[in-house]
Amino acid sequence: MYFSKYNIFSKIKDSDSSYLINILTGNADIIDSAKAEEITAGNYSDVDEYIIKGYLADELEEKKLYNEKYLDFIESRDTDELQIFFVPWYSCNFDCGYCYQSGYENKSEIPTKEIIDSFFQYVTTEFKDRKKYITIFGGEPLLSAGKYKDLIIYFLEKAEYFNLDIAIVSNGYFLTEYIDILKTKRIREIQITLDGVGEIHNKRRPLRGGNPTFLKIVDGIDQALANNITINLRVVIDKENVNGLVELARFAIDRGWTKSDYIKTQFGRNYELHYCQTGHSKLMTRLEFYETIYSLVNKHPEILEFHKPAFSISKYLFENGELPSPLFDACSGTKTEWAFDYTGNIFACTATVGKPGSSLGTFYPEVTLQKDKIIEWEERDVTVIDECKNCNLQLACGGGCAAVAFNRAGKLHAPDCRPVKELIGMGLSLYFNEEN
Ligand code: SF4
Ligand code: SF4
Repeated sequence: MYFSKYNIFSKIKDSDSSYLINILTGNADIIDSAKAEEITAGNYSDVDEYIIKGYLADELEEKKLYNEKYLDFIESRDTDELQIFFVPWYSCNFDCGYCYQSGYENKSEIPTKEIIDSFFQYVTTEFKDRKKYITIFGGEPLLSAGKYKDLIIYFLEKAEYFNLDIAIVSNGYFLTEYIDILKTKRIREIQITLDGVGEIHNKRRPLRGGNPTFLKIVDGIDQALANNITINLRVVIDKENVNGLVELARFAIDRGWTKSDYIKTQFGRNYELHYCQTGHSKLMTRLEFYETIYSLVNKHPEILEFHKPAFSISKYLFENGELPSPLFDACSGTKTEWAFDYTGNIFACTATVGKPGSSLGTFYPEVTLQKDKIIEWEERDVTVIDECKNCNLQLACGGGCAAVAFNRAGKLHAPDCRPVKELIGMGLSLYFNEEN
């Protein structure tokens, strides 16, 4: 029997207690300081219990269980719904300082209807037997000029014809102008970004030319919610606006958004993907980001009414009373996610779409696939990344993001490490503290 290599054992933040979690066997315990000392010293007084829970394990038996769970993971992923992104253009009416597409070229082209037809032809044949929905992405898909609007309407009608739901990632500026169209279509959700209230948002997400955007977006969100269109409200966060979360949470609560059945929220950490950002010093590491959110929430618990961050597996454990299934792969690219753009190219996901050198094939003017590259994406998980194979965090971390790993290490089969131990320590402290 050995102390399982999948055990995650660490302190709960701002507490004398620790936690012991084994995602492979699905067990989690809060450990008092005396027991924690035993574990550190390798002298266990609860041997029987630890064996039952898999904290103490037989290596061969554990390997068998690992293989079984891995097969379950692959099988269930193969039947998961596909999210298929389509970029109709890279043009945008905003000038956000942190836009990861700012280094991309060919910004003023738009697709022909023939390209849109080819896209639908490809996804409805290639992914014929998969559950799927389409997310329209940009640039900014909801632009006001007629040539853009006509193509979006054409796209939505094609999706309706094929019984496919649509999600849209938009900056929200022309949402009001699109509401009458959107409320008649199969819209699953619209993701809109607000980076704060008023000036904070306007400074970070102005129109090209500098004019403000906050009030018009808020109006669009109000109208969407009133028409039962789901809004997925995203906040892109860095050092510049993180403290503004308190005001944004209050704003959303006061406006009744947080009580709506049609609102979802997400926090996105601003990070550097492909191109250097001008405001590099504003960025936070993942750990800094969560530490900052943790201390803000401790002072202003109403933030949790607006959004409950995951803190690795903590939120899941709190809300479901059990651990999530082992995560052998955190990256959905080419498995449950694909991205296509108006140039006829196919990419693994939104992080690589449009990036020179990242195409995995074409759907227009003819179908071509770079099978070797696709296989490399498909094979990436914690069982093939050397660093992950013996990492005790692997089943919570899943190896991170392939695009980030590639940008850092120059190869896909490289780790993008998550500070899982620390995140769980903070999350358990926040969510299992009865005062919150
Ligand atoms: S490469 Fe990164 S952004 Fe793309 S699907 Fe994988 S995890 Fe997501
Ligand atoms: S990416 Fe890093 S933290 Fe995550 S499983 Fe691999 S080695 Fe561990």
